[in-house]
Amino acid sequence: MNVLVLNCGSSSLKYQLLNMEKEQLLVKGVCDRIGIDGVLKHSYGDKTYEVNVPMPDHAAAVKILMDALVDKDHGAISSMAEIHAVGHRVVHGGEQFSASVVVTDEVEQAIEDCCELAPLHNPPNLIGIRACKEIMPGVPQVAVFDTAFHAAMPPKAYLYAIPYELYEKHKIRKYGFHGTSHKYVSMMAAEMLGKPYNAVKVITCHLGNGSSVAAVDKGVCVDTSMGLTPLEGLAMGTRSGDIDSAVITFIMQKENMTAHEVLDLLNKKSGVLGMSGVSSDFRDLWNAESAGNDRAKAALDLFCYRVAQYVGSYAVAMNGVDAVVFTAGIGENDGPVRKKVCEYLGFMGIEIDDEKNKARGKMVDFSKDGAKVRALAIPTNEELVIARDTKEALK
Ligand code: ADP
Repeated sequence: MNVLVLNCGSSSLKYQLLNMEKEQLLVKGVCDRIGIDGVLKHSYGDKTYEVNVPMPDHAAAVKILMDALVDKDHGAISSMAEIHAVGHRVVHGGEQFSASVVVTDEVEQAIEDCCELAPLHNPPNLIGIRACKEIMPGVPQVAVFDTAFHAAMPPKAYLYAIPYELYEKHKIRKYGFHGTSHKYVSMMAAEMLGKPYNAVKVITCHLGNGSSVAAVDKGVCVDTSMGLTPLEGLAMGTRSGDIDSAVITFIMQKENMTAHEVLDLLNKKSGVLGMSGVSSDFRDLWNAESAGNDRAKAALDLFCYRVAQYVGSYAVAMNGVDAVVFTAGIGENDGPVRKKVCEYLGFMGIEIDDEKNKARGKMVDFSKDGAKVRALAIPTNEELVIARDTKEALK
């Protein structure tokens, strides 16, 4: 069975074709600058093929990637009939979806209803689903939600302390994101620990441009740091994370800004970028810090402090922890961030081995021998989870 995994953003479309008998990646790529001009970057084996092609909309991009998949030189299949299902990443599933589902008219409507909760993400996800329905009628489409893994959180974790009617009327609550990543790395952590998934307590730190932490107790997510939207929780590349809500009206008054403008500022101009004034990229921040930039240092300090605070509070939530996992761009590659976070966590049994912590982009237990709680770096693989879920939903 071949599954095409699609991750549709507002102006880009990432894809992977996987053979699910062997869980083997066949080809992958990205259609970029959709609606602007259009660039296809397509990787097969260790080669990359790049070409400028007009992509006026997502449907055009889907057609172009289909052509790349069946191309006799750099493709992986001989005809579209060899695509047996499409798995779509959908960011927000609201309260309706606690698992991946085959897309029907009702499901499509429900995803549309969630657009209000994720106005930047759900609309392009839907466009991708609709483009595939048009181009590949009859091929089953499956929606895999970023929020689904967090659906098991108890009310004490997902409710906000605001009038309950607002939750009932508008479903204002914590949903959480990066669910496929937290699920994948927590499962891999159990494997690394050599224990069944339903017997371990794992705290997963997905640290990328967007960052979140999750508490996974015996395979069930019991809390996570992102909220109604991805703005809550850790400080991120450009997002503020947790902040006193009164700051919003204060900025509105002082800077003569609208609520919408302040939200934009908190989403796109804050985080380590806003603090440092240097960059949202951690490689640039470390370079600036080494050159004596105090604001870059403060941003790095705050970032790591917040990650450690969440890890501590999730150890409390689960009354213990077996392993803390670091994943995504920063978690997989940035040894100094991992070290800085772990230095706060000695009290709960984390001790790291500096030599092992030099590993980049690969699976490693970088704890000292005998440390009570294991510190792990695990490369995430959200596409594989989407493909597995797609296969499972079609059973
Ligand atoms: P996204 O959330 O967009 O998927 P990623 O998980 O790819 O993001 O993470 C991107 C971030 O990872 C970059 O902004 C950068 O800060 C960080 N990063 C990537 N590679 C490295 C590296 N070698 N060292 C430190 N940080 C890195």
